[in-house]
Amino acid sequence: MSQHVLDAALASLPRIALAHLPTPLIEVPALSRRLGVDLWIKRDDASSGAEAGNKIRKLELLLARAVREGADVVLTCGGIQSNHARATALCAARLGLRCVLFLRVADLTARLPDGGNVLLDRLAGAEIHPITHAQYRERDQLMADAAATLRRLGQRPYVIPEGGSDGLGALGYALAMREVRDQLAVGLGGARPYDVVVHACGSGGTAAGCVLAAKVMGVAPRVRTMAVCDDAAYFERRVGAIMAESREWLVRQGAPADAVAASEADWTVDDHARGPAYGVATDEQRRFLVEVSRLSGLVLDPVYTGKAFHGLSRAISRGDVTPGSRVLFIHTGGLPGVLANPEVFEDAL
Ligand SMILES: *Cc1c(COP(=O)(O)O)cnc(C)c1O
Repeated sequence: MSQHVLDAALASLPRIALAHLPTPLIEVPALSRRLGVDLWIKRDDASSGAEAGNKIRKLELLLARAVREGADVVLTCGGIQSNHARATALCAARLGLRCVLFLRVADLTARLPDGGNVLLDRLAGAEIHPITHAQYRERDQLMADAAATLRRLGQRPYVIPEGGSDGLGALGYALAMREVRDQLAVGLGGARPYDVVVHACGSGGTAAGCVLAAKVMGVAPRVRTMAVCDDAAYFERRVGAIMAESREWLVRQGAPADAVAASEADWTVDDHARGPAYGVATDEQRRFLVEVSRLSGLVLDPVYTGKAFHGLSRAISRGDVTPGSRVLFIHTGGLPGVLANPEVFEDAL
């Protein structure tokens, strides 16, 4: 796929401006020295105010579609401290849409947490439905049923899947790659392409958009996706399916089908750093996260970016990322989760 074809298809997608773009692209010399690479960070953690993070790029497309379809209520899901749910709740409030959140909890009878993303969800007036892990496994059906019920009541629901990671949402990260290309073109980032884009992966949409567009846009020939929960085989399947859907969207926007077929970046899912479970980091990961804050003033989170960045440092030590190479790390956000669980850091500070 040529840049021109992708540009034209992306430009024709309906989009609501929600994020503060372009997000900063910064050089971090102290971390470059620590890791032994030429490290740049795309500050998508600074993509907005309280709704900041990677999800807002997907929501610019998803909520535009919801509004075009005449929706008056959006439904989505996530873990109890979901960054995606919080971004959706705040953006929905901004657009005058109701928001219903299905959030996974360990114990339905326990009190909801007071802080972090849950507080922001509640400030935004979102309706929170706690659900069990077993119900969460059936989340797509559960949301489809809830939407059907709302439709019977005369409302117009729009369902956003976990993480906003469907084919349309993922194109938010193809647009992010276009944004980095334009930043490189005006001389930021030293103007040379990167060797590799590195990012945290939870629901797969960010990966799908980056893999689809990083090489076409001349940002980097390779993408390293750092899994934070499931293994590489799972994400290869999942992200592959999202990319196939994204390509269908591009074709619907007028891109020739054969042109969108073969254009991906070389792609590795790295699952060395996923840690013990979703949301649970190792001691080493937590200590590294603290070290990064002290070296750079950048705050990573233990669920996503902390694991991914630690994974990057390990990949460099193993030689899987070449020492001295130019690395673009996408800081995907996650600050509210850090503030919600201070006890996680007690022995690392
Ligand atoms: C959701 C999220 C990710 C993962 O992005 P996906 O597109 O869901 O894979 C990474 N970092 C943070 C902070 C997130 O909230």
